[in-house]
Amino acid sequence: MAKRRHLQCPYCENYLRNPIDLNFKSLEITGGMCPCGAVYVLDRTGHNLGEIYMDALQFVCKGDIDRALELNPEDYDSIEYDYDDKTNSTGKSGAKGKLSKLLFVKLLK
Ligand SMILES: [Zn+2]
Repeated sequence: MAKRRHLQCPYCENYLRNPIDLNFKSLEITGGMCPCGAVYVLDRTGHNLGEIYMDALQFVCKGDIDRALELNPEDYDSIEYDYDDKTNSTGKSGAKGKLSKLLFVKLLK
């Protein structure tokens, strides 16, 4: 069995609540924000990570898409998890197609 654990911020280890539907400026995402400044965005299908990535970058820039587009790879860090919304847990499992993906992004400066 793959190791699973409760949803937790990878940067500060805060326990986080389930991703929720958010309307933030022009963004419509399912996710949330950690008090440390990291954001997380859910990709329910697990097949749409490119789009989710841009949404997450825009979200972490507080909706400022121009700033999001100007970010360099060294300006932020990102971590991707498999996510199970029934248990609000994350893990690196081998399950195919079943799990959603949860993308964390944090600005480094
Ligand atoms: Zn955090």
